[in-house]
Amino acid sequence: MSPRDHDGVRSTLGAERDSTVSLIEALSSRLRSVVEATADSSSDDEHDPEGTTLAVERGQIVAQLDRSRVRLDEIDAAFGRLDHGTYGRCESCGESIGPERLDALPAARHCIACATRNSARRW
Ligand SMILES: [Zn+2]
Repeated sequence: MSPRDHDGVRSTLGAERDSTVSLIEALSSRLRSVVEATADSSSDDEHDPEGTTLAVERGQIVAQLDRSRVRLDEIDAAFGRLDHGTYGRCESCGESIGPERLDALPAARHCIACATRNSARRW
């Protein structure tokens, strides 16, 4: 991969990082207001439908926050690999990761073959 390509990767990853950071900020402030609303709602009635809705929403926000933080870590790790010259190389088998895969998933750690072997390992 040429240095020119790496510049493209950096801007792609940078844009992805920016949108992930704003997503995390938006989710965090949404979570704060849900937590406040939960605290405000009467805890006398365990069957309060609004309280249940808030609890469900809270769970969804927390799950989405977790995924976004993992994504941010993966993006930062990809920047680290760019700095160390190992970007685009599979961490399992050391083969180069196909450009189509890197286009679709710029922070990919593994080649498609290794990622397919272990489907739990999305990156
Ligand atoms: Zn591999």
